[in-house]
Amino acid sequence: MDLKAIEKLKKNVYEANMLLPKNGLVIFTWGNVSEMDREAGLIGIKPSGVSYEDLRPEDIVVLDLSGRLVEGKMRASSDTATHLELYRAFPFLGGICHTHSRYATIFAQRKESILPFGTTHADYFHGAVPITRPLTAEEIADDYEQNTGKVIAECHPDPEGIPAVLVANHGPFTWGKNGKDAVHNATVLEEVALMALYCQGKDPVGSDILDKHYFRKHGANAYYGQ
Ligand SMILES: [Zn+2]
Repeated sequence: MDLKAIEKLKKNVYEANMLLPKNGLVIFTWGNVSEMDREAGLIGIKPSGVSYEDLRPEDIVVLDLSGRLVEGKMRASSDTATHLELYRAFPFLGGICHTHSRYATIFAQRKESILPFGTTHADYFHGAVPITRPLTAEEIADDYEQNTGKVIAECHPDPEGIPAVLVANHGPFTWGKNGKDAVHNATVLEEVALMALYCQGKDPVGSDILDKHYFRKHGANAYYGQ
Protein backbone atom coordinates (compact mmCIF):
# COMPACT_ATOMS: atom_id res chain seq x y z
CA MET A 1 0.00 0.00 0.00
CA ASP A 2 1.36 3.41 -0.99
CA LEU A 3 1.04 5.22 2.36
CA LYS A 4 2.58 8.44 1.09
CA ALA A 5 0.11 8.59 -1.82
CA ILE A 6 -2.80 7.88 0.56
CA GLU A 7 -1.82 10.65 3.00
CA LYS A 8 -1.35 13.15 0.17
CA LEU A 9 -4.73 12.23 -1.35
CA LYS A 10 -6.53 12.63 1.98
CA LYS A 11 -4.99 16.08 2.55
CA ASN A 12 -5.67 17.25 -1.02
CA VAL A 13 -9.25 15.97 -1.08
CA TYR A 14 -10.01 17.46 2.33
CA GLU A 15 -8.67 20.87 1.28
CA ALA A 16 -10.51 20.79 -2.06
CA ASN A 17 -13.81 19.88 -0.37
CA MET A 18 -13.41 22.72 2.13
CA LEU A 19 -13.26 25.17 -0.78
CA LEU A 20 -16.90 24.35 -1.67
CA PRO A 21 -18.51 26.20 1.27
CA LYS A 22 -15.77 28.86 1.14
CA ASN A 23 -16.59 29.60 -2.52
CA GLY A 24 -20.33 29.60 -1.83
CA LEU A 25 -21.02 26.52 -3.97
CA VAL A 26 -22.75 24.33 -1.38
CA ILE A 27 -25.13 24.45 1.53
CA PHE A 28 -25.44 21.59 4.05
CA THR A 29 -23.69 18.54 2.56
CA TRP A 30 -24.69 19.10 -1.08
CA GLY A 31 -21.45 18.51 -2.85
CA ASN A 32 -18.41 16.34 -3.14
CA VAL A 33 -14.90 16.46 -4.53
CA SER A 34 -12.60 13.58 -5.38
CA GLU A 35 -9.04 13.36 -6.62
CA MET A 36 -7.21 10.52 -8.36
CA ASP A 37 -3.54 9.67 -8.15
CA ARG A 38 -3.17 7.91 -11.51
CA GLU A 39 0.29 6.51 -10.71
CA ALA A 40 -0.88 4.88 -7.48
CA GLY A 41 -4.29 3.98 -8.98
CA LEU A 42 -6.03 5.50 -5.94
CA ILE A 43 -9.00 7.84 -5.54
CA GLY A 44 -9.85 9.92 -2.46
CA ILE A 45 -13.42 11.12 -2.01
CA LYS A 46 -15.56 12.86 0.60
CA PRO A 47 -17.47 10.57 2.98
CA SER A 48 -21.25 10.50 2.63
CA GLY A 49 -23.40 12.95 4.59
CA VAL A 50 -20.63 14.55 6.67
CA SER A 51 -21.04 18.30 7.16
CA TYR A 52 -18.17 20.56 6.17
CA GLU A 53 -17.74 21.83 9.77
CA ASP A 54 -17.17 18.27 10.94
CA LEU A 55 -15.07 17.03 8.01
CA ARG A 56 -11.46 16.09 8.86
CA PRO A 57 -8.65 14.89 6.55
CA GLU A 58 -8.73 11.43 8.16
CA ASP A 59 -12.41 11.04 7.15
CA ILE A 60 -11.57 11.00 3.42
CA VAL A 61 -12.30 7.58 1.91
CA VAL A 62 -9.66 6.02 -0.37
CA LEU A 63 -10.70 3.57 -3.08
CA ASP A 64 -9.27 1.97 -6.17
CA LEU A 65 -10.72 2.46 -9.65
CA SER A 66 -13.01 -0.56 -9.27
CA GLY A 67 -14.50 0.97 -6.09
CA ARG A 68 -12.73 -1.38 -3.67
CA LEU A 69 -12.10 0.26 -0.30
CA VAL A 70 -8.39 0.85 0.31
CA GLU A 71 -8.60 2.98 3.44
CA GLY A 72 -11.23 4.75 5.52
CA LYS A 73 -13.77 4.05 8.23
CA MET A 74 -16.67 5.96 6.70
CA ARG A 75 -18.97 5.25 3.78
CA ALA A 76 -17.87 7.06 0.59
CA SER A 77 -20.06 9.74 -1.01
CA SER A 78 -23.28 8.39 -2.53
CA ASP A 79 -22.06 9.83 -5.86
CA THR A 80 -18.88 7.73 -5.81
CA ALA A 81 -19.98 5.47 -8.69
CA THR A 82 -20.41 8.56 -10.92
CA HIS A 83 -16.89 9.75 -10.07
CA LEU A 84 -15.41 6.28 -10.75
CA GLU A 85 -17.21 6.03 -14.08
CA LEU A 86 -15.84 9.42 -15.15
CA TYR A 87 -12.26 8.48 -14.13
CA ARG A 88 -12.62 5.33 -16.24
CA ALA A 89 -14.20 7.12 -19.23
CA PHE A 90 -11.82 10.13 -19.28
CA PRO A 91 -8.29 8.88 -18.50
CA PHE A 92 -6.84 12.41 -18.30
CA LEU A 93 -8.95 13.39 -15.25
CA GLY A 94 -7.18 14.06 -11.93
CA GLY A 95 -10.10 15.55 -9.98
CA ILE A 96 -13.90 15.78 -10.06
CA CYS A 97 -16.30 18.16 -8.32
CA HIS A 98 -20.07 17.86 -8.00
CA THR A 99 -22.31 20.54 -6.49
CA HIS A 100 -25.86 21.81 -6.68
CA SER A 101 -24.62 25.40 -7.08
CA ARG A 102 -27.63 27.60 -7.74
CA TYR A 103 -27.21 29.00 -11.24
CA ALA A 104 -25.58 25.99 -12.88
CA THR A 105 -28.35 23.84 -11.37
CA ILE A 106 -31.00 26.18 -12.82
CA PHE A 107 -29.64 25.41 -16.30
CA ALA A 108 -29.55 21.68 -15.47
CA GLN A 109 -33.19 21.81 -14.37
CA ARG A 110 -34.17 23.78 -17.47
CA LYS A 111 -32.34 21.06 -19.44
CA GLU A 112 -30.39 23.72 -21.34
CA SER A 113 -26.72 23.94 -22.15
CA ILE A 114 -24.82 27.11 -21.19
CA LEU A 115 -23.83 28.98 -24.33
CA PRO A 116 -20.58 30.97 -24.41
CA PHE A 117 -21.71 34.58 -24.21
CA GLY A 118 -18.36 36.12 -23.34
CA THR A 119 -14.67 35.81 -22.69
CA THR A 120 -15.13 34.68 -19.07
CA HIS A 121 -16.72 31.52 -20.46
CA ALA A 122 -14.23 31.24 -23.35
CA ASP A 123 -11.23 31.46 -20.99
CA TYR A 124 -12.29 28.16 -19.40
CA PHE A 125 -14.72 26.30 -21.65
CA HIS A 126 -14.08 25.91 -25.38
CA GLY A 127 -17.77 25.81 -26.33
CA ALA A 128 -21.19 25.45 -24.74
CA VAL A 129 -21.28 23.54 -21.44
CA PRO A 130 -23.37 20.54 -22.51
CA ILE A 131 -26.54 19.17 -20.95
CA THR A 132 -26.99 15.40 -20.75
CA ARG A 133 -30.04 13.55 -21.94
CA PRO A 134 -32.41 12.54 -19.13
CA LEU A 135 -31.78 9.06 -17.74
CA THR A 136 -34.27 6.37 -18.72
CA ALA A 137 -36.50 4.69 -16.10
CA GLU A 138 -34.24 1.60 -16.26
CA GLU A 139 -31.11 3.71 -15.81
CA ILE A 140 -32.66 5.35 -12.74
CA ALA A 141 -33.93 2.11 -11.20
CA ASP A 142 -30.61 0.22 -11.25
CA ASP A 143 -27.04 1.51 -10.90
CA TYR A 144 -28.33 5.09 -10.99
CA GLU A 145 -25.04 6.74 -9.99
CA GLN A 146 -22.92 4.71 -12.39
CA ASN A 147 -25.41 5.36 -15.20
CA THR A 148 -25.17 9.09 -14.47
CA GLY A 149 -21.45 8.82 -15.25
CA LYS A 150 -22.15 6.79 -18.39
CA VAL A 151 -24.66 9.34 -19.68
CA ILE A 152 -22.15 12.16 -19.09
CA ALA A 153 -19.50 10.28 -21.09
CA GLU A 154 -22.04 9.49 -23.83
CA CYS A 155 -23.30 13.09 -24.18
CA HIS A 156 -20.06 15.07 -23.83
CA PRO A 157 -18.58 16.29 -27.13
CA ASP A 158 -15.23 17.56 -25.77
CA PRO A 159 -14.33 16.60 -22.17
CA GLU A 160 -10.78 17.99 -22.49
CA GLY A 161 -11.77 21.38 -23.90
CA ILE A 162 -14.93 21.78 -21.79
CA PRO A 163 -14.23 20.48 -18.25
CA ALA A 164 -17.87 20.68 -17.13
CA VAL A 165 -21.29 19.17 -17.79
CA LEU A 166 -24.85 19.68 -16.61
CA VAL A 167 -26.73 16.51 -15.70
CA ALA A 168 -30.36 17.01 -16.76
CA ASN A 169 -32.70 17.71 -13.82
CA HIS A 170 -29.77 17.39 -11.42
CA GLY A 171 -26.75 19.68 -11.47
CA PRO A 172 -23.18 20.28 -12.59
CA PHE A 173 -20.10 18.07 -12.56
CA THR A 174 -16.73 19.65 -13.30
CA TRP A 175 -13.25 18.21 -13.50
CA GLY A 176 -9.60 19.18 -13.78
CA LYS A 177 -6.02 18.12 -13.18
CA ASN A 178 -6.70 17.64 -9.45
CA GLY A 179 -9.45 18.21 -6.88
CA LYS A 180 -8.69 21.91 -6.39
CA ASP A 181 -8.65 22.50 -10.14
CA ALA A 182 -12.07 20.80 -10.42
CA VAL A 183 -13.42 23.14 -7.70
CA HIS A 184 -11.88 26.12 -9.50
CA ASN A 185 -13.78 25.12 -12.66
CA ALA A 186 -16.98 24.64 -10.63
CA THR A 187 -16.61 28.16 -9.24
CA VAL A 188 -16.07 29.65 -12.70
CA LEU A 189 -19.00 27.64 -14.06
CA GLU A 190 -21.31 29.06 -11.40
CA GLU A 191 -20.31 32.64 -12.27
CA VAL A 192 -20.65 31.93 -16.00
CA ALA A 193 -24.10 30.39 -15.43
CA LEU A 194 -25.28 33.47 -13.52
CA MET A 195 -24.15 35.76 -16.33
CA ALA A 196 -25.57 33.50 -19.05
CA LEU A 197 -28.99 33.52 -17.40
CA TYR A 198 -29.17 37.28 -18.04
CA CYS A 199 -27.95 36.84 -21.63
CA GLN A 200 -30.56 34.29 -22.71
CA GLY A 201 -31.83 35.14 -26.20
CA LYS A 202 -28.70 37.15 -27.06
CA ASP A 203 -26.04 36.06 -29.53
CA PRO A 204 -23.22 33.88 -28.19
CA VAL A 205 -19.62 34.84 -28.99
CA GLY A 206 -18.20 33.80 -32.35
CA SER A 207 -15.54 31.15 -32.81
CA ASP A 208 -12.91 33.91 -33.24
CA ILE A 209 -13.31 35.11 -29.62
CA LEU A 210 -13.90 31.58 -28.33
CA ASP A 211 -10.67 30.29 -29.90
CA LYS A 212 -8.62 33.36 -29.00
CA HIS A 213 -9.52 33.30 -25.31
CA TYR A 214 -9.43 29.54 -24.89
CA PHE A 215 -6.14 28.94 -26.67
CA ARG A 216 -4.27 31.86 -25.11
CA LYS A 217 -4.74 30.05 -21.77
CA HIS A 218 -4.66 26.38 -22.84
CA GLY A 219 -2.58 24.16 -25.10
CA ALA A 220 0.79 24.35 -26.79
CA ASN A 221 0.65 28.04 -27.76
CA ALA A 222 -0.79 29.43 -24.50
CA TYR A 223 0.73 32.72 -23.42
CA TYR A 224 -1.54 33.86 -20.54
CA GLY A 225 -0.01 34.04 -17.05
CA GLN A 226 3.56 33.68 -15.70
ZN1 LIG B 1 -26.18 15.77 -6.80
